[in-house]
Amino acid sequence: MEKTLPKYLLVINAGSSSIKFAIYQTDAPLTHLTADATGQIEGIGNQPSLTIKSAEGLVLVDHLLSIDEVPDHAGAIALMLAWLLDYLAEGTLVAVGHRVVHGGQLYSAPVLINATVLAELETLIPLAPLHQPHNLTIIHLLLENMPALPQVACFDTAFHHTQPDVAQRFAIPRCFTDEGVRSYGFHGLSYEYITSVLPKLEPKLSHARIIIAHLGNGASLCAIHNGQSIATTMGFSPLDGLVMGTRCGNIDPGILLYLMDHHKMNAHAVEQLLYYQSGLLGVSGISNDMRTLLASDDPHAQEAIELFIYRINREIGSLVAALGGIDALVFTGGIGEHSAEIRMKVCHQAAWLGIELDDSANAAAAKHISTPNSKLSVWVLPTDENLMIAHHTLKLFL
Ligand code: ADP
Repeated sequence: MEKTLPKYLLVINAGSSSIKFAIYQTDAPLTHLTADATGQIEGIGNQPSLTIKSAEGLVLVDHLLSIDEVPDHAGAIALMLAWLLDYLAEGTLVAVGHRVVHGGQLYSAPVLINATVLAELETLIPLAPLHQPHNLTIIHLLLENMPALPQVACFDTAFHHTQPDVAQRFAIPRCFTDEGVRSYGFHGLSYEYITSVLPKLEPKLSHARIIIAHLGNGASLCAIHNGQSIATTMGFSPLDGLVMGTRCGNIDPGILLYLMDHHKMNAHAVEQLLYYQSGLLGVSGISNDMRTLLASDDPHAQEAIELFIYRINREIGSLVAALGGIDALVFTGGIGEHSAEIRMKVCHQAAWLGIELDDSANAAAAKHISTPNSKLSVWVLPTDENLMIAHHTLKLFL
């Protein structure tokens, strides 16, 4: 009998100085996915390093690299492909799925990349200038290195296409709305994944009103009804909404005018301030890392946490209004999944909703952390954006 060789899918999430990747094995009719390995090249352009772990958590590679070996993204991709082709041995790589931050108004679903799609995605760079170029650079590099390899783009914005028009508009002259200055929302792959998992745990929530709190370095909330996004806290850019690691979240636009006028800051300086020097880092003056702030007794660290929680509670109120009620609240993302203390603080402030937290379930990070008397159920679910991308990529081949 002829031996069938294993088939693999690659998932890539490219940032300004890192390329994260995940490898999945799939069966011959391309219906199942098994996580195989994950890796990352970090510190591109500065102090590059490569780490790769098996699905069981075994460290397969952990190398510091020299800037001569990996001077830029092209060098990083060449290194990753060399390792990958060696690792896959006789197996074949059937496709690659990319996390692409912006699909604009054009893409409400993942798409197989061709020259036309790529050209359209280039036109969206002004909407996500800090992220989109890196996503596209990697697609171009793979096209050069492996032109026959099918590539799929999965968008952070796509899941939010179901938001009603009123939720997508800003109150500015319509000519700007028409050119694309509207509320898109992000973290869509995470919300889509959680929305696919929750009804399996609690079937009666399939058509429910749910708020998902994706609390990581970037943080947002999404209101889901009947499995669809109807509102979210991030808007035109991933700056809006909640307080984040280094991003400001919701801010009075008058502050930007003040900074530009009074402090003579140009657009680049304001961008740096709001994206990289604000949020938990800006308020605490200590760190963007929630673990560090929770462990600190500095009053500024406590103030940063207090503001983080306060804004979540206010935005929950806003999304409950958009939903007309709430049946479940889900925590996910690095902070949402791992910090019982933050979940507890959020739930205590949101007690007005009738939340009753099961303290021991919360401390144990059980999946379901509210008591039977709670008016809404509260959950902790680990997100898996890579798996979502792998599923989408596979689906385009079925
Ligand atoms: P990203 O948005 O970069 O994907 P993550 O979802 O990995 O980020 O979340 C990173 C955040 O999660 C950091 O602020 C980190 O401090 C926080 N975090 C991770 N583990 C814990 C923990 N045990 N307690 C509190 N915060 C945690």
